[in-house]
Amino acid sequence: MTTPDVDPLVARMRPFGTTIFAEMSALAVRTGAVNLGQGFPDSDGPPEMLAAAAEALRGGQNQYPPGPGIPALRRAVADHQRRFHGLEYDPDGEIVVTAGATEAIAASILALCEPGDEVICFEPYYDSYAASIALAGAVRRPVTLRPGDDGRYVFDPAALRAAFGPQTRLVLLNSPHNPTGKVFTPDELALVAELCQEHDAYAVTDEVYEHLVFPDAAAPHVPLATLPGMRERTLRISSAGKTFSCTGWKVGWASGPAPLVSAVLRVKQFLTFVNAAPLQPAVAVALALPDAYFTEFQEGMRRRRDQLVAGLTDAGFDALTPEGTYFVTADVTALGGRDGVEFCRSLPERCGVVAVPTQVFYDDPEAGRRLVRFAFCKRPDVLTEAVTRLRQLKEAR
Ligand SMILES: *Cc1c(COP(=O)(O)O)cnc(C)c1O
Repeated sequence: MTTPDVDPLVARMRPFGTTIFAEMSALAVRTGAVNLGQGFPDSDGPPEMLAAAAEALRGGQNQYPPGPGIPALRRAVADHQRRFHGLEYDPDGEIVVTAGATEAIAASILALCEPGDEVICFEPYYDSYAASIALAGAVRRPVTLRPGDDGRYVFDPAALRAAFGPQTRLVLLNSPHNPTGKVFTPDELALVAELCQEHDAYAVTDEVYEHLVFPDAAAPHVPLATLPGMRERTLRISSAGKTFSCTGWKVGWASGPAPLVSAVLRVKQFLTFVNAAPLQPAVAVALALPDAYFTEFQEGMRRRRDQLVAGLTDAGFDALTPEGTYFVTADVTALGGRDGVEFCRSLPERCGVVAVPTQVFYDDPEAGRRLVRFAFCKRPDVLTEAVTRLRQLKEAR
């Protein structure tokens, strides 16, 4: 019997409440705080891309596009991967356009995992990973990233090795990594590749920050699919949202060998079927922009990173300088914080800034108990205001 006072939600989704982003963004609105919680830019992407979208919208490209995405976008995705990473994918059969990277990740897991299969991911993990794994009835096996002596997040290679077993179906690898800003090094990638091959596991790589690696990173971004033996077992995922400052468009893609891409497409067609018809040609234009766009984008974001890291340090945080992405994580211990969730809930009232506690992205919350994440993909004047406000924390002590 169904009764209204019983939670109708299936058991496997009950651990997933409202996302922390929704809670913190609502708090920002209610308190008028500067929102450095959610990672979305506050300025628009390249004008050529916006013009192409407007033109497509007015030009009648408003009906269902082809299931795998319009040919022009699939070609642009292939060209872009050849240009930046030397990777060859056939636009007909080895690339599928999705409703953001989020759908590509969900469809990949749903397509490849039987109930009980294990998915290895590095924690703290992007919040949709745990939910997608749960929807598939699969089991997550997290490997913990911890701040090392040099301020870079590292993992214990023995822990990664131990996470692999007979039930391992795939590794979900996010590099450059949100929320830590870590860029996996060639040695770390080589170990992931070796273990995938030893255990005959697939890799699903989330590379939405592929263009946001800063020049002082220990290593440039290297797609796992470029390592020997990995192309044939890797689904490489990326998206327009972060690279072209259009997170609301939700245009992403997955590339890989035809059998893997075909499996993703078969699930994807019943999740959304297709998406974003007039935006697809615009993203094709953006992907073909000259190198200058990509270097200026990265350089602008590096300046913002430096501004926020300096401001956080000055305000008394132990900020960990990220090598890539939109985010900086910081330890709140020096400011008297003992728990990131407590700290972030009180921060708007204390000084008018919103951040996100990263402990919610760990299976082992202790590992991230005192860490919080700030987004720096905001206008410099917004960052200046945030930093001015954060300085009050020290003065109030
Ligand atoms: C933003 C983000 C996504 C989601 O990308 P969409 O294209 O908006 O779906 C996926 N993974 C990571 C790590 C992200 O930061």
